[in-house]
Formats: sequence, structure tokens, C-alpha cells
Amino acid sequence: MAIAGGGFAGRTLALALAKFAPQGFRIVLIDAEPAQAHGSVAGDARALALSAATKNLLSTLELWQELAPSAQAIEGIEITDSGLNAALRPHFLGFNAEFKNGAAKAHMVEHSALSSVLAGAVAKAQAIEILAPQTVAGYVADAFTVAAKLGSGKTIEASLLVAADGKRSLLRERAGIKCVGWSYPQMGIVTTVAHARPHHGKAVQHFLPSGPFAILPLKGNRSSVVWTEDKERGEAIMALDGTGFVAELTTRFGHRLGEIALAGPRQSFPLDMQIARALVADRLALIGDAAHVVHPLAGQGLNIGMRDVAALAETVIDATRLGLDIGTLPSLERYERWRRFDSAFSAVVMDGLNRLFSNDNAPLRALRDLALGLVDRAPALKRFLVSEAAGATGTLPHLLKGEPI
Ligand SMILES: Cc1cc2nc3c(=O)[nH]c(=O)nc-3n(C[C@H](O)[C@H](O)[C@H](O)COP(=O)(O)OP(=O)(O)OC[C@H]3O[C@@H](n4cnc5c(N)ncnc54)[C@H](O)[C@@H]3O)c2cc1C
Repeated sequence: MAIAGGGFAGRTLALALAKFAPQGFRIVLIDAEPAQAHGSVAGDARALALSAATKNLLSTLELWQELAPSAQAIEGIEITDSGLNAALRPHFLGFNAEFKNGAAKAHMVEHSALSSVLAGAVAKAQAIEILAPQTVAGYVADAFTVAAKLGSGKTIEASLLVAADGKRSLLRERAGIKCVGWSYPQMGIVTTVAHARPHHGKAVQHFLPSGPFAILPLKGNRSSVVWTEDKERGEAIMALDGTGFVAELTTRFGHRLGEIALAGPRQSFPLDMQIARALVADRLALIGDAAHVVHPLAGQGLNIGMRDVAALAETVIDATRLGLDIGTLPSLERYERWRRFDSAFSAVVMDGLNRLFSNDNAPLRALRDLALGLVDRAPALKRFLVSEAAGATGTLPHLLKGEPI
């Protein structure tokens, strides 16, 4: 099998196949970035909220053990949409008791930590051949094989080609698969903040008129900030000097955790919602951001991609064990059926939440505060929402349940 794209989705799929596919199964991982770029501390300011299901997957691949010392458990979430100059910021919806059962807990990990654990494991896996830096420039599929054309002019033949090449996926375009979606008039600003007081594992989601402002706990007295702003204002904030930036940050961060200081670089990201109209084509399967991009307000993008990884790995391994051709449509349709609804539904829910909260319309605000308050008093509904976010509902592939394939 050939995998185009060595981001989190592509590398995790390669590792799942290397671990569980029958002996002799070969994987070629082709990535545009040099292998050493993954895991460099300076690479990416993001931290990722990993769901319980993603943690199960990483544990089954024996990667979680390495990541655990640097992962911070989320012990509770407070959601508010109070005004920035309100003396108090009361929360309208909180999740605390629902996290007491550790199985549902999400964990925060820094981008560089996850990236270097995956890169280290890929480098050690004998079944994986890495071609990096190298691009896949196109492909040709016939009844028996697919030939991936590399930027170098070389060709790699395989039974199946996986497009894990991110949201601007060239392979998706070459396959003629269109997307439904749009760019948000917002941008995501990400940074790390050190604070005087401990966070006790509490995450805060503050819905502001220009977009959600999330404070997510990291190890030590540090938090990751994911700050959605409308584009124009966001660009002006990114252009401020250090003092100006910290002043804007402090207005939103508040004083709950005492004095704050920047503890990492600031970085901004364009935000899109995008759903591919199909997840498969002749001898091609899409995973991760190549298949769907969601608003980061609930930290679900990669978790949804990991659900693709688990479903595709199981589909391919089952077909291989039965001696079937993994690149044929019946095999790929199983993957598509498994993932189609969940990925589209998740993108639509994130989009709806962003629209509902990213505005200052007074009647709508009163209505949503009422709704949040009602949810807050409905323990069964809260437990359901937590298990949805944990990725623990629906027919789960084995890896997401922490089971080998
Ligand atoms: C601000 C922000 C915060 C986020 N927070 C969270 C969070 O808390 N939790 C969460 O689950 N998700 C989060 N996400 C989403 C998450 O970061 C992405 O979903 C995830 O990184 C996508 O991984 P991927 O491997 O699918 O794609 P990518 O990371 O885009 O990787 C694609 C890879 O393919 C390579 N490539 C591209 N073209 C080619 C080609 N032609 N040939 C070969 N290689 C190619 C690229 O070099 C890259 O290495 C967040 C996103 C943003 C913007």
C-alpha cells in the first residue's frame, strides 16, 4: 500500500498496518516534508485535545505510553458566553462529574510531542519504507494496481493509494472528488500561556461574538490558547508587538489563573469547513483533513481523522486476511459506509455551533444561555455529549476500543 502524506493521519495509518497486517504487507509512506521536520519543537504552536477513542488507538499501537508523561488530562470543562467586561464570568454549562469516569477523559498533548513519537515509531517500523521529502504528483489506477507518480519522476505501484495529504489534497483533486464547504471569515490564533495559579485540569470555552476563545490545560502551570477572531481583527492582533499582543490576550484570558505570560510562539491558521463528496475512488481512499476539515472549536479535527485511520486499517487488514484485493470497490465501500455519516455530521455540528455562538444577537444570546442552562441541569444528556466527544458512540473499529485488529 502507498500512503501520500506523512501528517498525523498518514503516519498513524502506516503504524497500524505495520503492527497488525499479516507478515509481508509492505507500506510506502511518501511525505512532502523531510522526516526530521516532524517533531521539531519550533514546528507548530498547536496543542491537540485527543479524545478517549484516540488515546485507545495510540495505546493499542503502544505509543500512548511514550506520550503519557507529557499529556495533561482534561478534568472538567466550563462553557460561558459572558461579556468580556463582566465582573464575573459565570459558566452556563460545566462538565465535571462526567469526567470522573476516566474512560471518557480527553488529554491535551503538544503538537511536537505527538509528532516526534509518531516519527520515531515510523522510523523503527521495518514494514514501512519512507520517501521524504517527496511528493505524489498524480496517479493512474487500473483493474489490478495503482501507480503513484512521484515528483521525482519515479513511479510506485501498489494495490491501494491512500490520500492523507491534508486539506488541499492534490490526490482528491486528481480523482475528481469535489468538496462541499467554505472558508470562515475568521482565523485561529494559537499560543501557549504560562500562569501563576494551577489550572487543575480545567478547560474553559468562552464564546465571544467574534468566535470561541479556548483555554486548554497543559502540563505544569501552562495552557494552550485557541482563539478564534474575525479575520481583519485577527490580522491586526497578530501584527501587534509583544506587549500589545499580551494586552489583547489578557483581556480575553481573564485573571482567574493569576498573572500570565507568553510561553510559546503565536501562530495563526485560516479556518475552513470542508467535506469531500466521496471518500473513495478507484484504488484510492481519503483520510484525515483530505477527507474533512472542521472548525477547531471543539478540538475534533484530528480525532475524526483518527477514526478514519482505525476504520481503514481494519477494512484493509480484514480484506488482506481473506486474501481479497484491498483496492477494489467492495473493500473500499465498506470503509466509505463506515465513515461517511460520522465525518459529515461532525463537520456540520461544529459549523452550527460556530454560527450559533459567534454573534452578539441579544435574543439569540438569551435563548442559547437558556439552552446551555437546561443542558447543565440534565445529567443524562451531559453524559451522552461527553461520550460523543470521547468518540465512544456508534459501531467502533477495534482500535478505537483499545483492541487489536
Ligand atoms: C487552530 C487549530 C487547532 C486544532 N486543534 C485540534 C485539536 O485540539 N484536536 C484535534 O483533534 N484536531 C485539532 N485540529 C485539527 C488537526 O490539526 C488536523 O485535523 C490534523 O492536523 C490533520 O492531520 P492530517 O494528517 O490529516 O493532515 P496534515 O497535517 O495537513 O498532513 C498532511 C501531510 O501531507 C503532506 N503532503 C501534502 N501534499 C502532499 C503530496 N502531494 N505528496 C506527499 N505529501 C503531501 C504534507 O506535507 C503533510 O505532512 C486543529 C486545527 C487547527 C487549525
